[in-house]
Amino acid sequence: MPHEHKPNFLWSILTFKCPRCRKGPMFIEKNPWKLKQTLKMPEKCTECGQPFELEVGFWYGTGYVSYALAFIICVASFLAWWLFIGISTEDNRFFWWLGLNALMLILIQPWLMRLSRVVYLYFFVHYDKDYKQTKVKTFDYESEDYYKKIES
Ligand SMILES: [Zn+2]
Repeated sequence: MPHEHKPNFLWSILTFKCPRCRKGPMFIEKNPWKLKQTLKMPEKCTECGQPFELEVGFWYGTGYVSYALAFIICVASFLAWWLFIGISTEDNRFFWWLGLNALMLILIQPWLMRLSRVVYLYFFVHYDKDYKQTKVKTFDYESEDYYKKIES
């Protein structure tokens, strides 16, 4: 490899990487289905030092993201079902989709919760190829960290 290239945007989201460096993992435990660990995140990115929770209560906004993502997944699964299995008023195929889709949503919930946080943070923090030289993104100006950085 000649020099470091910019890691792919979508791939970084799907592998839950820090938005700023796209290298550091955003979650401590790799497996989202270990439910006690699902939302455990390091306070800062281990690679570039980017804080993940930008302000107190930052993650409340992820509710909307997870609704949107769940909706997209339902539409996709409906289209796939319609295409490969078909929908008819003569039988129960539609209800099978309804049931299986609901089951799928429950099963992917831990993964979806993580994905929502990642997508949400990507709205606020963008890729920075010079992350080793530049300052981390923050908008919590009252935090101790902010003043520490000014003093140093
Ligand atoms: Zn990072």
